[in-house]
Amino acid sequence: MSTALRRPVFVANWKMNYGPTEARAFVAGFAAKWSPRDDRTIIICPPAISLTTVAHALGARTDIAVGVQNVWTEEKGAFTGETSAPMARDAGASFALVGHSERRHLFGETDAQAAAKCAVAANAGLTPVLCVGEMLAQRESGGTMDCVLRQLRAGLSSLDESTIASMAIAYEPCWAIGTGKTATPDDASEVHTKIRDALRELVGDAAHEIPILYGGSVNAKNAAALMAATHVDGLLVGGASLDVESWAAICGIAYP
Ligand code: PEP
Repeated sequence: MSTALRRPVFVANWKMNYGPTEARAFVAGFAAKWSPRDDRTIIICPPAISLTTVAHALGARTDIAVGVQNVWTEEKGAFTGETSAPMARDAGASFALVGHSERRHLFGETDAQAAAKCAVAANAGLTPVLCVGEMLAQRESGGTMDCVLRQLRAGLSSLDESTIASMAIAYEPCWAIGTGKTATPDDASEVHTKIRDALRELVGDAAHEIPILYGGSVNAKNAAALMAATHVDGLLVGGASLDVESWAAICGIAYP
């Protein structure tokens, strides 16, 4: 388990927003507002084209880490338009989102690709954050856990125990992403508890050290209640991370 992830983890996923100029302005604004503190891990995931800018703009602010939103399954080669994990690492990333629902559902990413991406990210020295989550139809038909546990086990299938024990999982119900609908803290807790149980089957007691993040329309108003839910160890935030004020408010919430 890396030291950085023993604390609650707050991840900003900017999606396809903020090229280098806007990214630099955001970092300047956030760094001015956010003072370093050692009781939480803060990660910003800009678009790949802004990774270097964000890393440079953060400069000595090593309390704020950088993550890449996606990597390709191979380390280099003829894959036009893709970003490799070693390149993301070189550009300043130390984390990699893998299997985000937009990758899975807009770009057809499979469980096998998510597994390969976790492996290539870990090999490059990036900490994978594996995202899992059910579609609305799966939730309504009682298929939430089948989907979440299938994605979880498949995504982790090519990793050894120590890699699994040092990464993070994000539960992001697809119906809650960018929709303004949020899982209740109880809903999140129920799924997170089952994810923890599945992790325990894979890595034993080390499962307690793996942060399980919730994502899906998190904002400054609902963040504290979600963080208070059992087995919710952090938040993955899209829309609300694009505004310095709301992102700083989420990062600063009190949690139990
Ligand atoms: C996300 O991008 O992972 C996400 C949860 O987005 P939003 O917070 O906008 O729902």
